[in-house]
Amino acid sequence: IPHDGVRTRFAPSPTGYMHVGNLRTALYTWLIARHSGGKFILRIEDTDQERLVEGATEVIYNTLRKCGLTWDEGPDLGGPVGPYIQTQRRDLYGKYAHRLVELGQAYYCFCEKTESEEDSGQFDRAADPCRDLDPQTAKARVEAGEPYVIRQKIPNQGTTTFSDVVFGDITVENATLDDQVLIKRDGLPTYNFANVIDDHLMGITHVVRGSEYLSSAPKYNLLYQGFGWEVPTYIHCSPVMRDQHNKMSKRKGDPSYEDLIAMGYLSEAVVNYVTLLGWSPRGEYAEREFFTLAELAEVFDIGGISKSPA
Ligand code: GLU
Repeated sequence: IPHDGVRTRFAPSPTGYMHVGNLRTALYTWLIARHSGGKFILRIEDTDQERLVEGATEVIYNTLRKCGLTWDEGPDLGGPVGPYIQTQRRDLYGKYAHRLVELGQAYYCFCEKTESEEDSGQFDRAADPCRDLDPQTAKARVEAGEPYVIRQKIPNQGTTTFSDVVFGDITVENATLDDQVLIKRDGLPTYNFANVIDDHLMGITHVVRGSEYLSSAPKYNLLYQGFGWEVPTYIHCSPVMRDQHNKMSKRKGDPSYEDLIAMGYLSEAVVNYVTLLGWSPRGEYAEREFFTLAELAEVFDIGGISKSPA
């Protein structure tokens, strides 16, 4: 992959329909690429097998196509320009995780922890006997076929500062970060790990996504540092709200792009409206309300993205 110029990616997990917030992320990602003559990449993040919803990938493709958000590259999967599919790249993530173990930035963990224990934050890294296992011993256990996960080895001391275009610099104490799982027992990567590896390998320069991922971002920084890779520019977008207190949510029945079209809204109008939820044109366009997609690509600037929820 040539790593030149601006490269952005839309990286949805096929876990349901595309609500207005997802569509907005796709739009901003596409607009940043098109504005600068860069590349827009579509990557389906389907490594969490339990959360997959049948047909969701098709919905993503259709919505993007109908909105005019064409993508630029990917392995040929039958379509004109196929997107990247993470489950088809699984061996690659394992390879990088083992390399991180060799670099001393990750470790094999043989403890039996359930995912719910992980989620409830009960995993106490100080008490994990695997963290400081002698590397040769750990490797021998792996080679002997003992089941394991690979965890990120977060430094015990110090702080990590993460920079975001919208939210500024965020500094966290390393002691508050958990040794997140990078590779699960089934050999598949966790979402966070695959995301970082792919963003690096695909030469992504600008990462646009929802602010719900902001809290994981410092751990990403440590992964980039661990590999000695350059950190991309991060642009976390505030949520699109359904009302004063709640985010848009499919469980609460908030409309997808398809629903809006079925209600009779024109696709161009939806694209225009959704882009202006959380982004304001500036300068000579400041007062303008109606834009075609091509016009948006011309005037879109990252500085116009708002920190306030829309
Ligand atoms: N796969 C994530 C999602 O669908 C997106 C995360 C990202 O863009 O980095 O919510």
